[in-house]
Amino acid sequence: MHLYGPLSGKTKSNTGQLNEGGKVTSLQLKMGLLPHFYHSNTYTMNKITIYLDMDDVTADFKAYANKTLGKKTTDERWPHEDWIRLRDNPHLYRDLDKTPEADALVECCRYLRTKHGFDLKFLTAVPRGNDFHWAFYDKVMWAQQHFPDIPVMFGPFSHDKHVHCSDGDILIDDRTSNCEEWRKAGGFAVQHRGDLSKTLKELMDILDEHFQ
Ligand SMILES: [Mg+2]
Repeated sequence: MHLYGPLSGKTKSNTGQLNEGGKVTSLQLKMGLLPHFYHSNTYTMNKITIYLDMDDVTADFKAYANKTLGKKTTDERWPHEDWIRLRDNPHLYRDLDKTPEADALVECCRYLRTKHGFDLKFLTAVPRGNDFHWAFYDKVMWAQQHFPDIPVMFGPFSHDKHVHCSDGDILIDDRTSNCEEWRKAGGFAVQHRGDLSKTLKELMDILDEHFQ
């Protein structure tokens, strides 16, 4: 098996031609010439996986909470008294709308998966108190309703997400700590703060810079 990717030092387009200098450019990416990326470790050969967060990346938790609570927050975690009120709906995770940018973001990730050989999965978490008893079920059902081709992985808690990271895997997540822990685990993280253009640019920059 021929290897093309960050550890091989060379790349190959789907036309079979090696790229000069082994570098894949953003232009090639747009033209659909990005090769399949593989990375190796001591024991296995794995595909690169893109892990997409759900809450506040593809599922609009914040919009639901703002509407329910009648106020906005810029914090990444909700105050306890607000959390108690949100718990009034045990099926909250089933009832979330998609974020405005969810469809476009998923479509871009699907492109990378189908054309270039990445895996694509949701990586989500249940609340740290595990106090939404329908959370596991409802998150899977939400994904099946909106993006049925993408399987759902659970941390299970937010601080566990990094254990899913293999070298080179990419996380798109809104939470600062999740991104920091992911990078420490050997992956690449794009922190999504609602700006689709910025997120996609950072994703393309990672591909350009690290997958040569
Ligand atoms: Mg999130």
